[in-house]
Amino acid sequence: MTIPSLASGYDVVILGGGVAGCVLAARLSEDPGRTVCLVEAGPDYGARQEDWPGKILDSRALPREDVWERHTESYRIRARVLGGSSCVNGAWNTWGSHADHAEWTRAGGDRWSAGALEPYRLRAVERMGLRTVPDSELSAWASAALVAARELGYPEVDMGTPGRPGHGRPLLNSVDGLRWNAAFAYLDPATRSRPNLTILAGALVDRLSLRGGRVTGAHVVLDGRPVTLTAGTCVLASGTFGSPAVLLRSGIGPAAHLERTGIRCAADLPGVGANLSDQPGVFVPLSPTDGLNRALAAKEAVGELYVSRMLIRAASEFCPDGAWDLHLLPTAGPPLFGSLPPGQCEAGVSAFLMKPVSRGHVRLRSADPEEPPEIAPAFLSDPAGRDLAVVRSGLRKAEELATAMKPLAGPADSVPAHTLPDDRLRARVGTYWHPVGTCAMGPADDPRSVVDGQGAVHGVAGLRVADASILPTVPAANTQLPVLAVAEMLADTLRA
Ligand SMILES: Cc1cc2nc3c(=O)[nH]c(=O)nc-3n(C[C@H](O)[C@H](O)[C@H](O)COP(=O)(O)OP(=O)(O)OC[C@H]3O[C@@H](n4cnc5c(N)ncnc54)[C@H](O)[C@@H]3O)c2cc1C
Repeated sequence: MTIPSLASGYDVVILGGGVAGCVLAARLSEDPGRTVCLVEAGPDYGARQEDWPGKILDSRALPREDVWERHTESYRIRARVLGGSSCVNGAWNTWGSHADHAEWTRAGGDRWSAGALEPYRLRAVERMGLRTVPDSELSAWASAALVAARELGYPEVDMGTPGRPGHGRPLLNSVDGLRWNAAFAYLDPATRSRPNLTILAGALVDRLSLRGGRVTGAHVVLDGRPVTLTAGTCVLASGTFGSPAVLLRSGIGPAAHLERTGIRCAADLPGVGANLSDQPGVFVPLSPTDGLNRALAAKEAVGELYVSRMLIRAASEFCPDGAWDLHLLPTAGPPLFGSLPPGQCEAGVSAFLMKPVSRGHVRLRSADPEEPPEIAPAFLSDPAGRDLAVVRSGLRKAEELATAMKPLAGPADSVPAHTLPDDRLRARVGTYWHPVGTCAMGPADDPRSVVDGQGAVHGVAGLRVADASILPTVPAANTQLPVLAVAEMLADTLRA
């Protein structure tokens, strides 16, 4: 492989070619006078759809290839490929509530309000080609859920904007079962042909180079060889698990943890790797009737079965007025994990906790960049038990929805999920895969905060973080569209 202009360095080096990294690379290289290098640990399958593996393109299932760890706990799953987790995700897009924006503006200033982010949300919707679920993709289960939600009094709402609780269909980055990832959308042939943009795939970021409190570039491993890239500005976009790991390996993080790991501390930032926040959920399984199994099998036979195509934004009794803290997700089709005999489907309703107060962490196990970090999501662990109480509230609502859909599926469990003891509920927790918060944005005098409202790392010059990790709280939404919009906004602050 020939690597152009490594010796001369770049104006901007973007570390991580996922959802945020693709946005930043495309937007920052629009100026032909700025040299940009995008670094991604995973492969780059190129601009032509036909060169990509079929499993990444097929949006009817969640691929398990091109990930950092195979056969691991589900909450650790994240992509290792140009395009990042947009290549392996559910291709759903929703937006959070005004309460989310109030939290973000307190941490990062006015550019994080719903109004200020709106042009960037629209820009991301357009570039990703997002569109609402068409009628043809509704299964018998999804159609019944839409009717039941209306009967239960949830108004129909637009899921792609901040609004109010209610029911509706998400926006999709998928057309006719083809997952349209961020690499296709942002690194199209015209963008890739820019002479000022270099894409280095298969390049693992080990750590940043620092001189006198300023980042001057990054040490990466390319084809097994150590390479040093020099940069005017480094933008970290390695995701909620990857970005804190790169900072920690660079000596930027909690001094005590760095000392235990044998890494010299360059900047004592206790917030790095702390504050991990992800959305846990519990599935209420149901027993599909023969009629539902037949209807789903018929859809599957023609390649048109989509497991989940509607959702409800619901509010527990703990939620601020006008906001929501739950997603109820009816699903029916092949099971997400494992398999069932031919003709049998899995059906049920999940209740996801969208605004958890429990916090986990990401820490290094060693300074080796190939060793996966310790990831502790700490689901439902807050001492006051608030998260458990909200999940129980969600499960009651999920069971209510299931009852309204009884003609298609009856209860599979003898005990309602919302009455399960705490330990049994915790044992059934899964994830919605929306981790954030490990390089949280906040004021410089808050020891828990890592970056300011423009993603600039406190106390370290020449370094930004611009991915999901900087969100101090998770929005009451799926995170892909918020991350796209935030990366669009942060690209503008870098261009200024
Ligand atoms: C299984 C799954 C399902 C999901 N479903 C949905 C959904 O339906 N809707 C939704 O809105 N959101 C969904 N999400 C979440 C969404 O994909 C993420 O919020 C979004 O991708 C975050 O973007 P990011 O840029 O922060 O990180 P990512 O997109 O994960 O990108 C990080 C990139 O950095 C690279 N990287 C990390 N470390 C290094 C290193 N040391 N060196 C070089 N490169 C590195 C990674 O390989 C990766 O490409 C899902 C996520 C997963 C994992």
